Amino acid sequence: MRLPRFEYLGPKTLEGALDLMATHRDDAKILAGGTDLLVRMKKGLIRPKTIISLKALDELAYIKRDTRENRNNILIGGRTLIADIIASDLVQRKAPALSRACERIGAITLQHFVGTLAGNILQDNRCWHYNQSQFHRSGRGACHKDGGKICYARQDSDRCNSTCQSDGATALMALNASITLQRKGGRRRVDLADFYTNDGIAPHAIESHELLTQICIPIQGGQSAYKRLSYRSAIDYPLVCAGVLLIPSTASPTEISEARIVVGAMGRSPLYMAAASASLGGKKLDDTDAFQKAGKAAMDTAATFAVHNVGSTLEYRYAMVAEMVFQALTEAGEAARETGQKAANKGVQ
Ligand SMILES: Cc1cc2nc3c(=O)[nH]c(=O)nc-3n(C[C@H](O)[C@H](O)[C@H](O)COP(=O)(O)OP(=O)(O)OC[C@H]3O[C@@H](n4cnc5c(N)ncnc54)[C@H](O)[C@@H]3O)c2cc1C
Ligand code: SF4
Repeated sequence: MRLPRFEYLGPKTLEGALDLMATHRDDAKILAGGTDLLVRMKKGLIRPKTIISLKALDELAYIKRDTRENRNNILIGGRTLIADIIASDLVQRKAPALSRACERIGAITLQHFVGTLAGNILQDNRCWHYNQSQFHRSGRGACHKDGGKICYARQDSDRCNSTCQSDGATALMALNASITLQRKGGRRRVDLADFYTNDGIAPHAIESHELLTQICIPIQGGQSAYKRLSYRSAIDYPLVCAGVLLIPSTASPTEISEARIVVGAMGRSPLYMAAASASLGGKKLDDTDAFQKAGKAAMDTAATFAVHNVGSTLEYRYAMVAEMVFQALTEAGEAARETGQKAANKGVQ
């Protein structure tokens, strides 16, 4: 498979990139690591006339803590490599779910050292009927995502049900992250949970002239965890994944004040499990019965979204939602209890 012809532009500054994006709009695509984009181009799924590369934009490669004016956030630039996030002590300590998710993305040699977190969030949704070579796809009529009027994954569907298999986005949504989208002359900040269109053809609510310049993760106290299942332990997309955040109560540190459960690879976007998350309010950090019930509730919700288009049977993936959520909650609960114990011991000394 060869890349189609395209014009390559390599701006040296953020301003230059935004200028080019404003000029070329829908004709252009941003190139970060290219590990999603170039594969889709080779398969003839997209044919941008112009590629705008972020390679020279070192100003967008950073991980830092923002404590200005009582803020407490981790800020990650829009061209930061997955490898740098895995290596970051700040992310390891304050957002372990993201650290774990990044460790599991694709291949160490490729996705980690070339791929970026922004590209991971913005990678296209996938479907085994669609992410095939042109030759393979030509064997039958085009589906919605290919310009046709049928969905092979859900026969009666009037829209595309391709699946979001982003490990990074699932962990980030559990961590309550937001993103900054910048264009020439302006910017907007969007909670990741509000960034999805519910349409598998164009799953992200981003304009063609907008650049994802920053990811912001609030440091809220508490502990996060991430679990995922794939066929192989390396170089494979998740079949099911779950990110969770457990924040203990200040008044009663062994109890959960707030929980966030997000399930990935089961729908057009990572799925925030509102009811399952709310069910954990006031529960103990080691209440495994409550964790099991939350896992089951997440499974029931995920089952209303998932279609059979990323591998394995649906029944198995449903069951694994409950298991991944349970495992992630147990790990986050243990870590939160440990942290609380250490803080209590310090107080006694
Ligand atoms: C074999 C293989 C295995 C993989 N395994 C996994 C996996 O396990 N988990 C997983 O989550 N992903 C996986 N991926 C997908 C992909 O490699 C990763 O998601 C990677 O992090 C994408 O980052 P990138 O910088 O290479 O993105 P790119 O390919 O450069 O970009 C992806 C998309 O985002 C857009 N984009 C990138 N950066 C910006 C920005 N700052 N602003 C606006 N638009 C932008 C691009 O235009 C493009 O549409 C895999 C891919 C392959 C080929
Ligand atoms: S979910 Fe349906 S419309 Fe979307 S890519 Fe798959 S087969 Fe095509």
